[in-house]
Amino acid sequence: MSPRGSAARPAWWPADIRAVGVFTVDVDGEAGVGEAAPGMERRPMLESLARYGPEVGVGRLIEVLAEAGVPATFFVPGRVAELHPEVVPAILAAGHEVAAHGYRHRRPAALGPEEEREEIERGLAVLRAQGAEPVGYKAPFWDPGPETLALAAAHGLRYDASLMDRDWPYRLSEAMVELPTHWQLDDWEWLGYLPEPGLEYPLRSAAEWIAAWEHELSARMAFGGLALFTVHPWISGRPGPAFALREWLGRWHGRAGIRWLTARDAAALVP
Ligand SMILES: [Zn+2]
Repeated sequence: MSPRGSAARPAWWPADIRAVGVFTVDVDGEAGVGEAAPGMERRPMLESLARYGPEVGVGRLIEVLAEAGVPATFFVPGRVAELHPEVVPAILAAGHEVAAHGYRHRRPAALGPEEEREEIERGLAVLRAQGAEPVGYKAPFWDPGPETLALAAAHGLRYDASLMDRDWPYRLSEAMVELPTHWQLDDWEWLGYLPEPGLEYPLRSAAEWIAAWEHELSARMAFGGLALFTVHPWISGRPGPAFALREWLGRWHGRAGIRWLTARDAAALVP
């Protein structure tokens, strides 16, 4: 296939859509922050920063999404769902999708086969026990190992959102669709400061961040394609970023040529 062929709109893409927006929320909580910045159990500031996500941020993002009329997909590590058993039912009650994101948010590429299996199985078991029926997966840290996506497929998951090789959704295997994304579309890189060497990302203004996302979405309207955004409730559930998100999503509401879909529905477009 020529490079141009890979960039071209696939024949099955709905004729009335230029861009598909997929808004995803990674409820990493204590699992995600704990894996990124070890020692959280002895550091109440870090633990409180992480806990803000499931305890405050999820509810605020649900409000923002309701106002904007945007259906979203929440990727929830099993451990966070266990610590905060009200979160998954609240997401489902608001009409959003819940999907798999490991158990302790351990980096799959750094795990052995048994640990990987345990992460996926324990994570899925908790979500299912709380009423969710996950059909999709996003690797913690977007860092699957060579066998991770086949393992996810073997556990009944039908799409992944961790790779970065296309502008369009595509079929990764007989069992699985890929919804590719990029670091540019993740709030962590913009606003996710953690007081740890290597993670002290510069805290930018919400206005700068939203201007970049406006540009990314406009670019999909120009070229066509998928924009799979990721926010984290401990980051964008805070008032400043959430206020910017509400205003930005409101501006795109009802605009012709874009469709906001859950990850599950975007994956279902692919034959
Ligand atoms: Zn995550």
